[in-house]
Amino acid sequence: MSYVDEIYERVVAQNPNEAEFHQAVKEVLDSLKLVIDANEEKYRKAGLLERFVEPERVVSFRVPWVDDNGNVQVNKGYRVQFNSAIGPYKGGLRLHPSVNQSILKFLGFEQTLKNSLTGLPIGGGKGGSNFDPKGKSDREVMAFCQSFMTELYRHIGADTDCPAGDIGVGAREVGFLYGQYKRITGRYEGVLTGKGLTFGGSLARTEATGYGLIYILDEMLKHHNQQIEGKTVLVSGSGNVAIYAVQKLQQLGAKVVAMCDSNGYIYDKEGIKLDVIRDIKEVRRARISEYVKAVPTAVYTEGKGIWSIPCDIALPCATQNELNLEDAKMLKANGCIAVAEGANMPSTREATDYFVENNILFMPGKAANAGGVATSALEQSQNSMRMSWTFEEVDAKLKDIMVNIYAKAADAAQRYGVPGNYVAGANIAGFEKVAEAMIGQGIV
Ligand code: NDP
Repeated sequence: MSYVDEIYERVVAQNPNEAEFHQAVKEVLDSLKLVIDANEEKYRKAGLLERFVEPERVVSFRVPWVDDNGNVQVNKGYRVQFNSAIGPYKGGLRLHPSVNQSILKFLGFEQTLKNSLTGLPIGGGKGGSNFDPKGKSDREVMAFCQSFMTELYRHIGADTDCPAGDIGVGAREVGFLYGQYKRITGRYEGVLTGKGLTFGGSLARTEATGYGLIYILDEMLKHHNQQIEGKTVLVSGSGNVAIYAVQKLQQLGAKVVAMCDSNGYIYDKEGIKLDVIRDIKEVRRARISEYVKAVPTAVYTEGKGIWSIPCDIALPCATQNELNLEDAKMLKANGCIAVAEGANMPSTREATDYFVENNILFMPGKAANAGGVATSALEQSQNSMRMSWTFEEVDAKLKDIMVNIYAKAADAAQRYGVPGNYVAGANIAGFEKVAEAMIGQGIV
């Protein structure tokens, strides 16, 4: 049996009931097969893959808090410190009822490769809780965040592990978490990123994932004699990533005709009015169905179905496995030429393979959404230097990073004989750096 197959079997056997983690490992190992086969003896001797698929540490803890009715609530909290070969752990905290160890391990594993691709010195981690911030008062969210940090603080630090936001964790939550960290430790340091601008946050961090997605999409299109201007685009989700992706697309002359939330999607053939979406999502924290009240010519449809709308470009920016094989086929049949993933693993494995095999330009999440973590690392740099860069400085660095990620993924795909396969390219380029660092540091 090949080394890759052996490791995958081991992962399944040793981590039962972790379907998302199995899926992420399988996709990565499959596309690393060429590199691993070429270096099998060296990697086996170093137990490299056995170590690569095992988190360095998984911390799990209880998070008790009191709700507005005086009742005690208890959630599960986690931090997965996956790989620190190339730098301190870095990766977001997710607050969503679906959060479990499997999802956080898949995210931490992917994060390791993504962080490597950015070219910055950051290892991979991820964390969160099954707490659902939806419908909670500010006081309840604060009580939860303070309790979560009262346990988490002992495992993190500016030079050890630096969490950030993710689904359900925006500026409000990061602020509450940071306040509690500072109170407990007495340290004012860059331990969390995505902070408010008055206490160490970086300009352009809020926009970074969405903007970065469009910068790399633009780069990929240019290399295939295409451009963003004039294209019709679908963007799923209506959270942080989706909103700023739409903003940059519109600046570059694209027309975004649909967005969604977990209840349904809106279709506005005149082009989405982003100020309406921002008011609904960022100010009122309401449902996307409200859009049609402000724009009566738009149509709201309950449930899934956004990928059935004809488009040139599709950008899944909501959540994992939101785009399946059937959706992929529909996109192709309707003339879609490019897909770039703003979310983490939004396309199922079958959909990903379909895109790659059917000549749809496809940029996987670990390359396409790396702008968020890259700018988080820039926030850490500014905190360490006790400096703040301008929006333009950060944005220019972000753009450079995304252009470089494209180049690395394209180059690795070319070197291993699969030109244009950015799934393989991103995995290989990310892995090569981590593997070398792990071997260089001995058996740890
Ligand atoms: P947000 O919480 O801000 O937004 C998530 C959006 O996706 C919401 O509109 C949400 O709708 C929607 N959504 C969630 N589940 C579903 C579903 N099953 N079907 C349809 N829509 C759904 O999160 P972010 O924008 O920050 O993150 C989105 C994705 O991008 C995640 O995969 C995240 O890991 C990834 N990512 C985020 C980064 C960042 O910097 N924020 C960096 C890199 C990756 P609703 O409001 O109804 O829940």
